[in-house]
Amino acid sequence: MSSIETKCLHEGWKPGKGEARQVPITQTTTFKYDTSDEMGKLFDLEADGYFYTRLANPTNDAVAAKICALEGGVAAMLTSSGQAANFYAVFNICEAGDHFIASSSIYGGTYNLFGVTMKKMGIECTFVDQTLPEEELAKYFRPNTKLVFGESITNPTVSVFDFEKFARLAHFHGVPLIVDNTFATPINCRPFEWGADIVTHSTTKYMDGHATAVGGCIVDSGNFDWLAHADKFPGLTTPDESYHGIVYAERFGKAAYITKATSQLMRDFGSIPSPQNSFYLNLGLESLHIRMERHCANALTIAKYLQAHDKVAWVHYADLPGDEYHELAKKYMPKGTCGVLSFGIKGGREASIAFMDHLKLISIVTHVADAKTCLLHPASHTHRQMSEEQLLEAGVQPDLIRLSVGIENAEDLIADIAQALEQVNC
Ligand SMILES: *Cc1c(COP(=O)(O)O)cnc(C)c1O
Repeated sequence: MSSIETKCLHEGWKPGKGEARQVPITQTTTFKYDTSDEMGKLFDLEADGYFYTRLANPTNDAVAAKICALEGGVAAMLTSSGQAANFYAVFNICEAGDHFIASSSIYGGTYNLFGVTMKKMGIECTFVDQTLPEEELAKYFRPNTKLVFGESITNPTVSVFDFEKFARLAHFHGVPLIVDNTFATPINCRPFEWGADIVTHSTTKYMDGHATAVGGCIVDSGNFDWLAHADKFPGLTTPDESYHGIVYAERFGKAAYITKATSQLMRDFGSIPSPQNSFYLNLGLESLHIRMERHCANALTIAKYLQAHDKVAWVHYADLPGDEYHELAKKYMPKGTCGVLSFGIKGGREASIAFMDHLKLISIVTHVADAKTCLLHPASHTHRQMSEEQLLEAGVQPDLIRLSVGIENAEDLIADIAQALEQVNC
């Protein structure tokens, strides 16, 4: 299958004669076998087959296979949320005493996970300004650094990640680059083609697209050579005592990373999606390519409108000519970035909040990247746990409004924005 549009419809579930056209929801916890020996082989990872939904389920696998195909990876797993995906992606190759590097502009939830919760597990994350030059960034690597993490488009500051710069740095230091591709989606950005080794998603956003199911995904490109850096990644290159001494990188080759994440982390932490939720996710994926096109077209129209409005202080949208990330966006996301933009209103934090309260069609929700236009104020909502200093480090100005432009008629959205701006005194 050549084009990504066709893959959105046809990858993953490939029915045979007389089988369901749509991916069946295999809503079961367990699967039947005839002999005890058959079941034993499954536990030893010696035979392929389903035995317990926490480890694998046909609906979940079909949807993971579709996302894997969309990203151009070799193996993928679904998780119950984007948070679980990012946690597993890191914890699969980091343990107590290890260190990793992440961009400081990432999603607030991931920032907390990395900076606070994982620290309690003995894993240290250094947050870096992703705009620093390569030689400055190189200074943050330590002998125990195990990976580099960034977001293709950061949430909520919508900055574009310089893939090639970070891939060079990571690979020079013998570690993989993990990129959260939630906002750009594989429709607009191809992280593996620019050197990322592993991609994560909060499928809750554009992939699901209709605010129905929280979910996540991890996809491995299969490109990182774990055995070439065996001393750094003992979890993949030495025997797993909890799995009869399997050495993942030797036994599973390019699928080693995802096999380990499934058979070890999912086994022990259990953050699987329900098959029902994976079914909803798959419905969203079927129209991802057309929705992304409309999200981008609408967002650009609105970004231009806001930019020209005299009550608007600033607009960040990388598809706008003149935006500081425009050149990176053209290079890495030539079809457009996404539907999310950020802006501030003259009069600062209070004026921005007043504007939001006057909207009628556009709703205030803790969500983003959805078919319906929505917005929130990160400093009061998603990022409220952060100190003023952390907010500024993450690039979240106090007046920043994150607008997630949906697929409605753009003129209707502009009419709502116009009437709300009219009522704000600034
Ligand atoms: C929402 C989001 C997450 C967290 O995903 P959940 O599905 O809400 O757990 C992670 N990364 C990014 C970029 C996000 O936007």
